[in-house]
Amino acid sequence: MSISEEDRFATEWTLNQFRDDLSTRGIVNVTEGLKPVSFDVYWHVFYANQTKEGGYVSDEQIQRQMKVLNDDFKSANISWNFKNTTRIENEEWFLSAAPGTPQEKEMKTQYHKSDSTALNIFTAQFNSTTKSLGFASLPSSYLSDPISDGLVIRHSTLPGGSQTNYNQGRTTVHEAGHWLGLYHTFEGGCTGVGDNVDDTAPEASESAGCPVGRKSCPDAKLADPIHNFMDYSFDSCMTHFTPGQAVRMHEVIWAFRTKRPPVANSTVPKTSSVAAKHAVPSTSASSATGSLDLEAFPTGISNYDDGMGEDDDGQEYFEEDE
Ligand SMILES: [Zn+2]
Repeated sequence: MSISEEDRFATEWTLNQFRDDLSTRGIVNVTEGLKPVSFDVYWHVFYANQTKEGGYVSDEQIQRQMKVLNDDFKSANISWNFKNTTRIENEEWFLSAAPGTPQEKEMKTQYHKSDSTALNIFTAQFNSTTKSLGFASLPSSYLSDPISDGLVIRHSTLPGGSQTNYNQGRTTVHEAGHWLGLYHTFEGGCTGVGDNVDDTAPEASESAGCPVGRKSCPDAKLADPIHNFMDYSFDSCMTHFTPGQAVRMHEVIWAFRTKRPPVANSTVPKTSSVAAKHAVPSTSASSATGSLDLEAFPTGISNYDDGMGEDDDGQEYFEEDE
């Protein structure tokens, strides 16, 4: 499932405000050096019964998943700090908590912890009509719907799970990439701004399996980015984020997931000229900016025009197909 143009616009608009603000202050590249960032992680295991099939994810699996997350985000200088696990026996939530459902709202309202700077991961099964392996909320949705922030992950995708070809923990890595503002590498197809990252090769559609050498865009210089965490390849085929994706995640962290006082009276304009607006990704800019204090950071960004481009639940999700 692709991001809607409205949601993409809301995200890009805020990011560009952020970049413009930095530029006004003479700061060329806030992400210079990619100063390390760490996020606390709260786990919520919903299960039908205390078996593996019933969703009773073990502590060992969660620790293995934490290791995969930390290993895979290491090159981006992003780390994840396990806080605790809450286990909740609730078969209805276990089977039905897909995005937009009343069950999702109920479980998150009761169990979501902390704020935009902490990651909540909910594991569940989904019912037989939901093929997805996981869902992630968009950073731009946080202000309008903070309770829904986080990931909902199919329990069988964790390391040691039963999801054939998708049980090495890369579903959670991929969803965490969305949580930090990354789009799919195949977003937008072969032309246009694609995934708003310069150094990921364009791709006509998602990959399946591990099709080494696949080149779905005839005019592209490079083969498809099938080894990228933000494609749909098998877990064993995924190896990395690009430097451009790392920079984008750090920009998103500054713009959406940094502790600072809330900002009032900034709204996203209601137009969809995303391509025109997003002309200058600054991934290759360089500048010795030194260290930056939180207080030095932008005001006037990060407020989200409530209701724009959102569904009735106020939350948009990326959805992964099997
Ligand atoms: Zn995705």
